[in-house]
Amino acid sequence: MPARPRGSKLHVPGPAHVEVPPDRVFSGRILHRGRIIPAELGVSEEGRILKVAPDVRGGRRIDLGEAILVPSAIDLHVHFRDPSPPGAVENLETGTLQAALGGVGAVVDMPNTEPPTTTLERLEAKESRVVGRSHVDVLLLAALQERTRVEELAARAAGFKLYMAPTTGDLAVPPGADLRSLLERVARAGSAVHVHAEDPRLFQGDLHPSDPEGWNAKRPVRSEISAVRSLLPPPPGLLLHLAHATSVESVRVAREAGLSVEATPHHLLLHATAHQDARWKVNPPLRSRADRDALYESFREGWVTMLASDHAPHPLGQKEGKFEETPSGAPGVETMLPLLLSRVREGQLSLPTLVRAAARRPALFLGLPRGHFAPGMEANFLVIDFRERRTIRARDLHAPCGWTPFEGKEGIFPREHYHLGARIVEDGEFVGGRSGRLLHRGAGRAPGPAPPAPLARPGDPLAVPAGPFPAPSLRDISPPPGPNAPSASLKVGDRRGA
Ligand SMILES: [Zn+2]
Repeated sequence: MPARPRGSKLHVPGPAHVEVPPDRVFSGRILHRGRIIPAELGVSEEGRILKVAPDVRGGRRIDLGEAILVPSAIDLHVHFRDPSPPGAVENLETGTLQAALGGVGAVVDMPNTEPPTTTLERLEAKESRVVGRSHVDVLLLAALQERTRVEELAARAAGFKLYMAPTTGDLAVPPGADLRSLLERVARAGSAVHVHAEDPRLFQGDLHPSDPEGWNAKRPVRSEISAVRSLLPPPPGLLLHLAHATSVESVRVAREAGLSVEATPHHLLLHATAHQDARWKVNPPLRSRADRDALYESFREGWVTMLASDHAPHPLGQKEGKFEETPSGAPGVETMLPLLLSRVREGQLSLPTLVRAAARRPALFLGLPRGHFAPGMEANFLVIDFRERRTIRARDLHAPCGWTPFEGKEGIFPREHYHLGARIVEDGEFVGGRSGRLLHRGAGRAPGPAPPAPLARPGDPLAVPAGPFPAPSLRDISPPPGPNAPSASLKVGDRRGA
C-alpha cells in the first residue's frame, strides 16, 4: 500500500486504474481513519467502487443524507442446515434473507449439514444449492476429519472446519488423534482451519445439568483453553482460526500464537444463569457474568479479531424436553450487527472496532475485495441511522425457528443494504432478488495490476496473503492516531485494534 498522507482530509488511494465515470454516486457519511466525515462513493455499473472523495462527478446520484455508510458484515459462522436434517426449519433461502436484513452481506456456512460436507462430491452438491436461492453471498466450509481428502477439497472450499468435541452433527476429531499432520496438510494446501475448540477429556461427565449454569460447569472454560493449546504452535502458513471464543484466556493464548479469533454476540452479551432454559444452551456454553464481561472487554479493545454469529436455528420444539438431550445452538445472524451497533450507540464500543471485526478483517481473512471503501472494492454496504432503535422481538425477525435469545434487547437494524451497488434492503424490508453468489477464498480480486505485497507482521495470520488477493497487514486496518470524536453519541477511534 502506498503511504497515506496524514491528516483528516479524505484521501483513499487505490490501485492504478483508468478513470471511468461512475454509474451511481452515493452521498452520505463514512468512517475514514477513525472519524465520520461526509463522503461520496462512485460506483461502476458492475458494483465496484471507483472513487471515494468529498465530491464525485457524473452518474446517477443517491443522496443518503446524514446516514452513515458502513461495509456490510461478513458472518464467518452460520449453520443454514442446507441440505437439511429431518425437522430442520432453516435453509439457504431463509438463512440468507435474515442475513440481508441484519446487514450481513456474505456468510460462511458450516459443514455439519445432513449429509455433512465431507467429500468433494457433497461440496459440489451443496454449491449447486447456493446460486438462485441465496439473498447474500455464500462461502462453504468442508469438514476436516482424519480421512478428509484435504488437497482435493482445499481448491474448492473456503476452508475447513475442525470439531474437537461432539456437538450438532457427528464430525468430532478429539485431541490426540493425528491432528498435527491434518493441520500441516491444510497449511500446505494454502487453506484455513476454523476450530471448534473444546477438549472433551476435560468435560465433567458425572454432571447432569438442567440449566445453562450447569452446562458451563460440565463443559468448562479450561476445556476450551486446553483444546487451543493442543493445536499450538500452528504449522507455518496455516490460517488457523478459533471459532466462538468464550474466555479472555482463550483469546490471549490464541492471539499470542498468531491465531485469529471470533466471538459471538451471545458469548459477548449473555451469561449463563440457573433460570434459563435450553434455548440458552449453546456449545461452547454461555459462561459466568465475570467471564462474559472480560470477553466483552477484550472485544471492545480489539483483541478479538472478528465477530461471528454461530447462527444455529433449532426450532423451539427441539429446545423443549430434558435439558441435557436438547440440541445446542441459537439463531443470531439477523441480530448480530444490530445488537453491536446498539452498543456503539450506547458508547460501549467504538464503530471502527466493530467495522474491523464484522467486515474488514473477515474480508482479509477470506481474501475478498470488500469490507472497506476504496477503489476496486465491491460496493457492499449498509446505510445506518443511529436514531433508528428497535426492540428485538422474535415476531419481527425472519427466522423460521421463531425465537431469539435476545428478546427485548435493543438493536439498530440497517435502513438500507446494498449488494454490488444494488439496493436489497429498503426501510428495513427486503427488496432484492436471489442475487447471492457462491464465493471462494480469494475470489473476485479487482482487475488490474496486483497491489504491492503486504507489510508483513510476523505471526499474525491476517498478514498472510490469502489466495490471490493479497491481504493488507493489520497495520493498514488499524485507525491512525488523531482526534476521534465525530459526535457525542459515537465513541470511535480506539487505537488498540490490532
Ligand atoms: Zn457453530
